[in-house]
Amino acid sequence: MKVPLLDLKAQYASIKPEVDAAIAEVLESQYFILGPKVEQCEKAIAAYSNCSHGIGVSSGSDALLVCLMAEGVGPGDEVITTPYTFFATAGAIARLGATPVFVDIDPETYNLDVSQITSKVTTKTRAIIPVHLYGQMAEMDAIMQVAEEHGLVVIEDAAQAIGAEYKGRRAGSIGHYGCFSFFPSKNLGAAGDGGMVVTNDAQRAEKVRVLRGHGSKPKYYHKLVGGNFRLDAIQAAIVSAKLPHLDEWTSARQRNAKRYDQLFGEAGLPVGIPAVVASRHIFNQYVIRVSGRDELQAHLQKNGVGTEVYYPVPMHVQECFAYLGHKAGSYPESERAAKETLALPIHPELTEPQAQFVVDCVREFLAVPALAGTQSKAASE
Ligand SMILES: *Cc1c(COP(=O)(O)O)cnc(C)c1O
Repeated sequence: MKVPLLDLKAQYASIKPEVDAAIAEVLESQYFILGPKVEQCEKAIAAYSNCSHGIGVSSGSDALLVCLMAEGVGPGDEVITTPYTFFATAGAIARLGATPVFVDIDPETYNLDVSQITSKVTTKTRAIIPVHLYGQMAEMDAIMQVAEEHGLVVIEDAAQAIGAEYKGRRAGSIGHYGCFSFFPSKNLGAAGDGGMVVTNDAQRAEKVRVLRGHGSKPKYYHKLVGGNFRLDAIQAAIVSAKLPHLDEWTSARQRNAKRYDQLFGEAGLPVGIPAVVASRHIFNQYVIRVSGRDELQAHLQKNGVGTEVYYPVPMHVQECFAYLGHKAGSYPESERAAKETLALPIHPELTEPQAQFVVDCVREFLAVPALAGTQSKAASE
């Protein structure tokens, strides 16, 4: 049985007329950059996220970058974030000449260990970027409290978490800014790159909007140096066409997660399943923890099951960040997660027999006697 990690063709087939019509409308209008389709999309995503402003941007990476630019973050500044994330989070900080300061993760949720944040705050700290990894929000109460105490800006990296909730509040609506990505593999994906900044602060929204278009306002008059961070009308139209389906897709992901939890539980396998602590986990990924991860991934691949490692190399040990002077071992939970975690297929179109097959393959692998000795928790530490 083939079980792809993601099945975008199946998703497209289920909504083809709506998506095709949205694209055709933009082509008919020949209005490709910003314009009414982008404005419509901005309003819809802001409303969905319980925010008063949405600014369409070129990607989730640029969303993070433009928020930091709007705060004037630059050389000499420090920004606190997690080392266990997609590169863009730390990259945005470093590109502006600021220093990413890492805080290790909570091994249960893979999100920032909030008990360690205060010890990393210095007089140079300007902002905190919590990442809502895999679709579950970080502990925002604690993060906002530290930020308030020290006068820091909070930029939520919600690239994997559109529609996720923490104590009933939507991702992107708690910090000063929220950043979404419409990369095709995200829960709400475009047909290319795209992203959105959301905020409840009118002044911050305006600054991001100006920076998105090279800092010009009015046209050809530049008070600020921005960039070309614009969202295309075609991408915006596709995102708007897909948005009405997002909640039903999220429910399907949650159903699939429950199914895996149950199947792994029944099988009694030494597999760590995701801990759900936030009020709405949207399961951009369903990530298990297991020793012998690489061998398991190879076994699954041999059986036609697509998986991925998010992420094999934590930020503090990336070659490009060698200048920060971190050593392997300095963020032990991130390093352990990088060795032990594996994302299984969780997309909305995943069927019950497919989920059963994935668990059967995992069981088959873990039952190999030669490998059984490596499964104990002690062996993995
Ligand atoms: C995908 C992602 C990004 C970047 O989004 P792009 O649209 O690909 O630039 C940033 N942070 C996290 C956590 C992501 O998963």
